[in-house]
Amino acid sequence: MANTKYIFVVGGVASSLGKGIISASLGKLLQARGFSVAIQKLDPYINVDPGTLNPYEHGECYVTQDGAETDLDLGHYERFSNVPTSQANNITTGRIYQNVIEKERRGDYLGQTVQVIPHITDEIKYRIQLLGQTGKYDFVITEIGGTVGDIESLPYIETVRQMRWEMGQDCAVIHLTLVPYLSAAGELKTKPTQHSVKTLLESGVQPDIIVCRTEKPLNDSLRNKIALFCNVKPSSVIESIDARTIYEVPLLMKKEGLDVEILRKTRMPIENEPDLKKWEEFLYRLMHPVSDVTIGLIGKYVELKDAYKSITESFVHAGAANECRVNLRLIHSGEIREDNMEARLEGLDGILVAPGFGSRGIEGKILAIRHAREKKVPFFGICLGMQCAVVEFARNVLNMKSAHSTEMNPNTKFPVIDLMEEQKKIKGMGGTMRLGSYPCRLRKGSRVYQIYQTITIHERHRHRYEFNNDYLEEYQAAGMIPSGINPKENLVEIIELADHPWFIGVQFHPEYRSTVAAPHPLFVDFIKAAILYRNGNK
Ligand code: GLN
Repeated sequence: MANTKYIFVVGGVASSLGKGIISASLGKLLQARGFSVAIQKLDPYINVDPGTLNPYEHGECYVTQDGAETDLDLGHYERFSNVPTSQANNITTGRIYQNVIEKERRGDYLGQTVQVIPHITDEIKYRIQLLGQTGKYDFVITEIGGTVGDIESLPYIETVRQMRWEMGQDCAVIHLTLVPYLSAAGELKTKPTQHSVKTLLESGVQPDIIVCRTEKPLNDSLRNKIALFCNVKPSSVIESIDARTIYEVPLLMKKEGLDVEILRKTRMPIENEPDLKKWEEFLYRLMHPVSDVTIGLIGKYVELKDAYKSITESFVHAGAANECRVNLRLIHSGEIREDNMEARLEGLDGILVAPGFGSRGIEGKILAIRHAREKKVPFFGICLGMQCAVVEFARNVLNMKSAHSTEMNPNTKFPVIDLMEEQKKIKGMGGTMRLGSYPCRLRKGSRVYQIYQTITIHERHRHRYEFNNDYLEEYQAAGMIPSGINPKENLVEIIELADHPWFIGVQFHPEYRSTVAAPHPLFVDFIKAAILYRNGNK
């Protein structure tokens, strides 16, 4: 295989332009041409990983198979490419410094003064090349978080400069900028892009390709203008117009020739067209639903679009698989009370209670679950959502009125959800949960067995608390079935109700595994059940 090519994606003008989607789309196009691609994200903040971050900061924390708590963009990479990511795909400034400082303490630098250049930049370079050195990838796409000009991005941009210099045509830089439309002037404006490229040039980096986020199409004179001012060919000015769905972006990028430009810059063969047949079929199903359902997503971050990113995307995949439009109604659990619960939950064809931490809004979640259980509305509980279903069942079916998770009430008389033994010893918060992929054995004849069609599954976890097996017999006797068990530790990973059309709680996070190519079976079946429920209620 020829040398691995390194593609950098750096953003300018504003944040939230969609570097992650552009990176994932480019990855998809190269993959569809038969190349092997890895995508990684470098985050310039000082947290060692995003695991300790509040979702208000950067949205959902995405968990990889190997148990890394990472940026949500890794979720996009997996959903687009269907290739699992790992710890190596997300590095923060905190981790870079932690490694450099550990080396310094060990004496690895032999008395040198340890500095940003070369020590920090060398560490960044090493991290970028780790994936390439596996020999598995034709392309490593590295997305750099933040915006050009940020103080904290400087060491990363400097690393890009060095790698360009050292690797020449094995490296290419994509700069994603905003071309705003001024309605008063009736014009698209290129000046912010020009300034952003100048800022990049000040750090010694000339972009090869400029991707322009825009609300209106770029005409030729505008492309020529950007090309002239920013030292790139007009064909390297790529329009990224607002799309109906993120899943359309690979096709838009193909039309604009982003992949061809990259292949040209890196001297790679441009032989055939990308094979996007399956992708286009998915998009067609997504855009042409034949039915629709409304799902209530009950959580405590409902004002925040990105907090449940993988769940909302899993619904997109599952909707397309069922040719069904999934209308998500985000409902704040803190606003659900006994006296308004019927009204709040009216019209829902399915209820999903989201993962989460802490007691804010917990009683609303439990009420929503009671409603779903009693009214036989399809119910899907994920992680904390499953734990709430266990608490609800204890309180309202098993007559343990004060039952709770010890996370919410450490002194509860009925600790039906409790800390795992090994968690009790842990003091620190970072990276100490039960994280990553674990096997789970399904009970033959259960609903989940029907759904997965296999005995052993592997799903990703991120939690500290567990179903308390002391109560298992009582639950089983009353009809809550432990249909998925961790074979080694005997932990209950899935519960379901025997006398309910679709009531499933999972201790793991199926949403991290749903991709365009392989929608998650639990989400697909949940939507199927919601369609049935809706049809039954018409
Ligand atoms: N707070 C719960 C626990 O730690 C659930 C976590 C989650 O929903 N991800 O066990």
